[in-house]
Amino acid sequence: MQVLEQRLRSQDLARKIVEKIHKLAPLAAKRVGQTPIKIMDFCGTHEYTITHYGIRSLMPPEVELVAGPGCPVCITPAYYVDVAIKLSLEGIRVYTYGDAYKLPGSGRRGHDIRSLEEARAAGGDVVVVYSVLDAVRMARRDRKPSLFLAVGFETTAPATASPVVAGMVPENLKILNVHRLTPPIMRYTFATHRDNPIRGVIAPGHVSTIVGAKAWKFVVEEYGIPTVVAGFEPIDVLLAVLEILRQHIEGRPRLVNEYSRAVKWEGNKRAQKLIDECCEVVDAAWRGIGFVPKSGLAFRDKYRHVDAFHEYGIKELTPEEWKYDLPPGCRCAEVTLGIAKPTDCPLFMKVCTPGTPYGPCMVSSEGACAVWARFGGGGGLAEEIARSLGIA
Ligand code: SF4
Repeated sequence: MQVLEQRLRSQDLARKIVEKIHKLAPLAAKRVGQTPIKIMDFCGTHEYTITHYGIRSLMPPEVELVAGPGCPVCITPAYYVDVAIKLSLEGIRVYTYGDAYKLPGSGRRGHDIRSLEEARAAGGDVVVVYSVLDAVRMARRDRKPSLFLAVGFETTAPATASPVVAGMVPENLKILNVHRLTPPIMRYTFATHRDNPIRGVIAPGHVSTIVGAKAWKFVVEEYGIPTVVAGFEPIDVLLAVLEILRQHIEGRPRLVNEYSRAVKWEGNKRAQKLIDECCEVVDAAWRGIGFVPKSGLAFRDKYRHVDAFHEYGIKELTPEEWKYDLPPGCRCAEVTLGIAKPTDCPLFMKVCTPGTPYGPCMVSSEGACAVWARFGGGGGLAEEIARSLGIA
């Protein structure tokens, strides 16, 4: 494993791939008729790899890497945070993942407490957990009326579904199921880039372990966009870029699974079955973006007894009632959709920092603003290679 890891971070190998990318990029741009060729990395962890290792600085002028909507915390509507804050202050224990603990709500619901962290400081009952199973265990032990804030994409949805389907959720624990699905937001994102289209997709690796590489077939078949399911090491990402350029030169877009060490074509069928058994697909809101058709999960009727919406009388958002839910001046929706860079936001690293997040993209380790804030200076690997190639 260590050998594989070393190889996937090898400076020599990275240099060779970067050289090839530089060689092929002008030809690919000519074939596409668009400079730069816009390649979207959909996953927050890919954005981490790209920024942390300074991969963007190694790209030729013909290639632009843009971050996509791959951070589940960033896109969770403020309304659900508000609801969780309110319940925590009313004596319901709220279990949350650490990523969502600092997530700002709307601050609109009659109190100035903006996050679960602030709610806890104000006396709210909030407990950070690593998994829904922690919440199940604690709720069983403490017997308090409680709620688990279930955010996440297809990667975390099976973990939520598992104790529900297995009948393990105690009577005093309800789940606020706000899971979201990635293929629908990918379609939505393509539509927002219509004038300056996305010409390559680095498909999300973690999500693909569940949904399978096959989930991205539509990107090639319907949009003609070269697509690579990639791992999270620098070599994985560089190979994905190279493959996309090659496909453009050949004029034959296809779906390639570069991350075959973790992702199967069919994905994890057991996990898919669990999600399907537990949840139905519904239209759902994305923060700052609004409703996206068939992009969310809701518990099926037979699991209503664990559904916090039902049990705590929480009204679900509707397209008519949904309100723009980013704080004033925050450009997180544009950052999420790859229309703006974190540095395009005037609040970046002034008002909004990892220590004092103002918008949702600055909270999670997968949020583009948080990643750029922490690693925007690039990494040693990239600097070394850039110097040796004379592009520093
Ligand atoms: S820097 Fe902060 S305020 Fe600006 S877009 Fe990012 S999260 Fe929003």
